Amino acid sequence: MADPKRIVVIGGSAAGPKAAAKARRLDESADITIIQKGRDLSMASCGYPYYVGGMFDDRNALLSTPTGVVRNPAYYVNAKNIKARTHTEALTIDREKKTVRCRDLGTGDIDDLPYDTLIVATGAIPSIPRVPGYDLEGITTMQTMEDADYLRKIRDGKKIAKAVMIGGGLIGIETCEALQLAGIEITVIELLPQLLTFLDWELAKLVESHIRSQGVNVITGNGLAAFLGDNGRLSGVKLANGTELPCELAVVAVGVKPNTGIARAAGLAIGEKGGLLVNDYMQTSDPSIYAAGDCVEIDHRITGKKTHAPYGDLANLQGRVAGENAALGNVVRFPGTIQTGICKIFEYKAATTGLSERSAREAGFDVLTVTNASLDKPGFMNGKLLVTKLVVEKTGGRILGAQCIGPGDVSRQAAQWAMAVMGKLTVEDLVNADLPYAPPFSLAIDHFIATAHLMQNKMKGRLKGVSAAEVKQKVDARQRLFLLDVRGPDEFESVRLGIGETLIPLGALRKRMAEIPADKNIEIVCFCKISLRGYEAALILEANGWKNVWVMEGGIAAWPYPREK
Ligand SMILES: Cc1cc2nc3c(=O)[nH]c(=O)nc-3n(C[C@H](O)[C@H](O)[C@H](O)COP(=O)(O)OP(=O)(O)OC[C@H]3O[C@@H](n4cnc5c(N)ncnc54)[C@H](O)[C@@H]3O)c2cc1C
Repeated sequence: MADPKRIVVIGGSAAGPKAAAKARRLDESADITIIQKGRDLSMASCGYPYYVGGMFDDRNALLSTPTGVVRNPAYYVNAKNIKARTHTEALTIDREKKTVRCRDLGTGDIDDLPYDTLIVATGAIPSIPRVPGYDLEGITTMQTMEDADYLRKIRDGKKIAKAVMIGGGLIGIETCEALQLAGIEITVIELLPQLLTFLDWELAKLVESHIRSQGVNVITGNGLAAFLGDNGRLSGVKLANGTELPCELAVVAVGVKPNTGIARAAGLAIGEKGGLLVNDYMQTSDPSIYAAGDCVEIDHRITGKKTHAPYGDLANLQGRVAGENAALGNVVRFPGTIQTGICKIFEYKAATTGLSERSAREAGFDVLTVTNASLDKPGFMNGKLLVTKLVVEKTGGRILGAQCIGPGDVSRQAAQWAMAVMGKLTVEDLVNADLPYAPPFSLAIDHFIATAHLMQNKMKGRLKGVSAAEVKQKVDARQRLFLLDVRGPDEFESVRLGIGETLIPLGALRKRMAEIPADKNIEIVCFCKISLRGYEAALILEANGWKNVWVMEGGIAAWPYPREK
């Protein structure tokens, strides 16, 4: 009988254990070892913000199987016959001898572990700006279980009053909510002009308004210049414009980079994004070594370019592919990413899939966009708002990407758009999509399909849409414009843009044509709460001879600027 295949996995969080478990399922006789630097295994890092925020209290819940068994070394041996060496660091890889040098971080003992096939799943490391004071006590990242433990202790200690969050990306925003829920006054600082850069600016601003409404202070377009200290402890931060903010805690989340040190030192090829280069089989430049998760760079399925996509779902999917190929030879492929992501922030969720308008234009696509705002299900079922921006290829209408935000069921919308992007579907494929419908779940014409209808109307020239940003530009430039709000008087009393609009409720429009400027060429922009009535108003005006009539897409629900009311 042949000797059992020796499979060694470096990294024991998401991609590593998934690869090891998959290899075991396909090869019962393989000798499989996981080397894990941390004390814990299989940590659900995506759950850290919710543990810190107090949404659950049992730390073990982050480490457990769905049936509540903690995934510790004993679990791996008993349930999977996998040796998991925790608190052990892989120091070097000797590709000639096919060994990994390991150090037990408790005893200091060093040994060389032989492999036939190696899987590198060393994850990512957070970037920390090396500004003055970066080593003061009170500064942390939110990347490891130890970070989560530290922040949870701060939450439970209730001694910290003020914190700053450096970075307004996905992890920063989730951590911001966690700290705010812990009763800590929080300021988010973002160098770029917007939070959540996977969203186009106007959607990010809507999310920002929601975050502010929850009492969080947000500063965009201003970077960190220094951490300020007192006796070795953080006492504040200084921003690039000189502003000083007192705080006792700073959490840095300005992005992560692939953790490739050990692989790089072993001479494995590194790609343009700084990640390990792998082929479709998740195989590195050394055929005996696979890699998966945050340490690799992969293909973007739309642009064809290499990209770093540090997402937990992708780490698991890639680990599964690497594990299968490590066990059986190259039999399955990983096709790349479309960069689908989602995060929760207070009552809102924000999701993206495929390309934003900005990234699509940067990639050289000629695009059309449309913004749709509607409820996710009927009002009588407590429907909640969704705002979606759809990006399609101008010619042919292929779906390139979509972003969705709001308190409604954003996750389902994003999942549907992701399938449309991956399936290379067009707007025409979606306008009669057969989706499940009943009032507890959706509208009769789901928000997803209605968004496709708007785009179809736009492509056919029936809907002349204009974005809120374009309207704002015209207003600021004092362009000659008739702004027509067609909501009811009560709505106008409670919420109003205050940009010089005239209120004529849709139901009264046909009788009040005399109030519309007589010049049939004047530019008219119609809107309402979500611009469904705005669209009907535009059709009425066009039918009555006005030639330059536009609809403000998404209506007031998608207006990202301050309002009069
Ligand atoms: C706070 C937070 C929230 C997140 N939320 C989401 C989310 O909602 N959705 C989503 O898709 N993604 C989310 N992510 C990202 C997701 O957690 C990662 O993409 C995923 O964990 C990557 O898995 P990985 O196995 O590649 O790397 P990691 O999880 O980073 O694991 C790598 C492991 O390798 C170990 N290691 C490194 N070097 C060595 C060495 N030399 N020897 C031994 N061991 C080593 C490390 O200690 C680490 O435990 C979040 C991440 C964080 C931090």
